[in-house]
Amino acid sequence: MTLTDSDPVVIIGGGQSGLAAARAVRDAGLRPVVLEAGDRPVGSWPHYYDSLTLFSPAGYSGMSGQAFPGDPDHYPHRDEVVSYLHGYAAGLDVEIRTGHRVGALEPDGAGFLVHTGAGSDTIRAAAVIAASGSFATPYSPAIPGEESFTGEVIHVSDYRNPTHYNGKRVVVVGAGNSAIQIGHELAQVATVTLATRHPINFLPQRRLGRDLHYWLAVSGFDYLPPAWLAKIVQQTLVLDTGSYAAALHDGLIDRRPMFTAFDHDQVVWADGATEDVDAVIFATGYRPNLGYLQPLGALDPTGAPLHAGGISSTHAGLAYVGLEFQRSFSSNTLRGASRDAEYVVGPLAAHVRGAAVAVGLQG
Ligand SMILES: Cc1cc2nc3c(=O)[nH]c(=O)nc-3n(C[C@H](O)[C@H](O)[C@H](O)COP(=O)(O)OP(=O)(O)OC[C@H]3O[C@@H](n4cnc5c(N)ncnc54)[C@H](O)[C@@H]3O)c2cc1C
Repeated sequence: MTLTDSDPVVIIGGGQSGLAAARAVRDAGLRPVVLEAGDRPVGSWPHYYDSLTLFSPAGYSGMSGQAFPGDPDHYPHRDEVVSYLHGYAAGLDVEIRTGHRVGALEPDGAGFLVHTGAGSDTIRAAAVIAASGSFATPYSPAIPGEESFTGEVIHVSDYRNPTHYNGKRVVVVGAGNSAIQIGHELAQVATVTLATRHPINFLPQRRLGRDLHYWLAVSGFDYLPPAWLAKIVQQTLVLDTGSYAAALHDGLIDRRPMFTAFDHDQVVWADGATEDVDAVIFATGYRPNLGYLQPLGALDPTGAPLHAGGISSTHAGLAYVGLEFQRSFSSNTLRGASRDAEYVVGPLAAHVRGAAVAVGLQG
């Protein structure tokens, strides 16, 4: 089957990445159709914890064509992001189908058949952009004795607020932004230890009177490719106005090497000591959320996409937006989504418009 003018570019996911992709596809003169599993095109933001404010000021949190509202120096709350994305989606004037979860893709000539739901609804796509988010599949390491633990174990993706932890003994596992932010919040009402494999690396939120995001932009750090970044940044960085480092220094939060086992109502610390613990919160990351691409052969054995800069290296006409470090430090952030979307849409448009046929390579 050949591609027709009416075949849309299907975008899987209606969060910031999907919306940025929809805008880029529309601006390239193609027809985007966004398929979103949830009931509104605002991504995962409503599911993040209650006190979440962006680490970037509003002035550095907007996507192409629409500035983030309010004082450019304020750090928007999670709910402001939800409103912003709602408005962004409405202003795009593109087709967004909510309640459509993509289950699988299959190649169909130069395009794809996109199967949603139980396979009852199939859409023919000239090209596909997978923008289904990097934070939907929580990962926790296997720890010996976990099945015997009588306390509570959750992944940070299920954490909402500290109310439930009042007066409790809590261990937060992880050394990234979420672990420190939540550990700090919990330490106001609970006794908290951060269990980490290595010391925490803080990056100052402000330098020389300016927010870090000013320096990321003017220095060009935000544009460094992942391979170069990997040489410069070897461990997770945690943004800090100073209060997190102070909390650790002053003993409000205690940090210890990761515990080695659970034992009924206790954890076993690395030095062999045991301690009663009420709750353990794993802030230990996520795995790719691209299972619907597995049958296509677009993923490696760990489920990660095979790509270069968001362009699939297995299938012409398939691209990604919203992967961590897809092209830079700012990939998978509000400020970076549009840049990555615009980058991948160029090759997709060439594919849809039959570039290979135009130069005489295919009949
Ligand atoms: C705790 C936390 C704090 C963060 N703080 C910041 C911050 O301060 N600043 C910043 O810029 N970034 C931040 N990020 C990173 C990033 O901006 C967010 O994770 C953002 O939600 C990513 O947007 P997304 O559109 O890529 O993915 P998501 O927001 O996850 O959206 C993906 C969408 O795809 C849909 N979907 C999933 N699977 C399917 C399917 N099979 N079919 C159809 N639809 C599907 C989902 O329903 C969802 O709506 C943070 C992330 C986390 C986890």
